[in-house]
Amino acid sequence: MDTVDLAIVGAGPAGAAAALAARRAAPAARVVLLDRAAFPRDKVCGDGIAPHAVDVLRALGAADAVAGYRPVSRLRVRSPGGQAALRTLARPDYVVPRAVLDARLVAAAQRAGAQLWRWRVRRVAVEADRVVLDGAIAARAVVGADGAHSAVARALGARRHDGRDLAVALRAYAPAPAGPPCQDIVFVAEDRPSYAWSFPIGDGRANVGYGARADRLSVGRDGLLARLEAALGPTGLDPATVRGHLLPLSTGRPAPAQGRVLLVGDAAGLVNPLSGEGIYYAVASGALAGAAALGPRPATRYARALRRLLGRHLRHTALLARLLDAPAVAEAGVAAAARRQAPFDDVVEVAIGAGTLTPRLAAATARGLIGGR
Ligand SMILES: Cc1cc2nc3c(=O)[nH]c(=O)nc-3n(C[C@H](O)[C@H](O)[C@H](O)COP(=O)(O)OP(=O)(O)OC[C@H]3O[C@@H](n4cnc5c(N)ncnc54)[C@H](O)[C@@H]3O)c2cc1C
Repeated sequence: MDTVDLAIVGAGPAGAAAALAARRAAPAARVVLLDRAAFPRDKVCGDGIAPHAVDVLRALGAADAVAGYRPVSRLRVRSPGGQAALRTLARPDYVVPRAVLDARLVAAAQRAGAQLWRWRVRRVAVEADRVVLDGAIAARAVVGADGAHSAVARALGARRHDGRDLAVALRAYAPAPAGPPCQDIVFVAEDRPSYAWSFPIGDGRANVGYGARADRLSVGRDGLLARLEAALGPTGLDPATVRGHLLPLSTGRPAPAQGRVLLVGDAAGLVNPLSGEGIYYAVASGALAGAAALGPRPATRYARALRRLLGRHLRHTALLARLLDAPAVAEAGVAAAARRQAPFDDVVEVAIGAGTLTPRLAAATARGLIGGR
């Protein structure tokens, strides 16, 4: 039996952030990152990296994960009813292919002293004073960072996400549209809430995709591709790069921790139900879990820190996800963002950061609703 201090299952952004934070908190600790894949590996994603995620990575000493990729500061949002907001982001995003980003983060974790083992975890046994993985690795604590189909979350008894707590999306790579780089989000009338995106990478390609809530989806893969091209126009996407994946939305998240086992990122269901963004929440939760894992009462400390950081945000996004079921509310929200910069900034904060439904966003949307009638 191999004995380690901390076993982190999954070496995506959440796992790598947990490893970086754990080695900071306990520099002598034996920290292993277990991943079934060899890096670099692809991960189905829009590749959009919020500045909030970069902040967390900077604090962990890994901001160079986005080095060499030009920040994208323009965002255009369009609604099915024809509203369009084209504005400059208060802070630019990055678009970095996950094959690059995740490999860089794993390398940063290794440089910080974590070990990377190629290992697919199948069994998690929680004992009185340790957690045993596959009968072969004994750890003082375990961080479950193993994504949307988390074996660790299952072992804690988490129910599977489904219905309105789950989204389905596919992405592909396509030639970037001509003109200055701009992130494009097009809300679509079918399968609401649903949208298509085009995120320019800066190397001549764009990540394009389409996603919708699982309980609203009425079409399969070909239908999703047809929706994507109907929303964005012909993209010239490379069919070999089309891949789909599930997004476990935070509206259906399990308890984030029990005893010595902490869940982070997609394994904790920390995907924004408004945008499908998950990388910021993955690195933020990973950083908190890594810092708490090897101290006293890890579950309590981690859950408290997560609540402090994201509690209000998670409550507000759950409420907004319900409100946005009404098409008129979504139209009024985009119209408010089109009219003025402040509501636009608020929408961005709540969709990709830790923002909340601000009074000014609520007022601007309500004005739009009343005006629209
Ligand atoms: C189509 C699509 C578009 C998206 N677009 C964006 C976007 O533009 N911006 C954004 O912020 N978010 C986006 N997301 C969400 C984002 O991809 C996830 O929230 C993010 O990857 C979560 O990171 P993670 O580290 O928790 O999990 P993952 O990135 O899924 O990493 C999990 C890791 O665990 C490993 N693993 C899984 N099971 C095991 C096991 N049993 N044993 C060992 N290893 C295991 C996997 O190999 C993987 O490396 C998108 C998601 C999808 C599906």
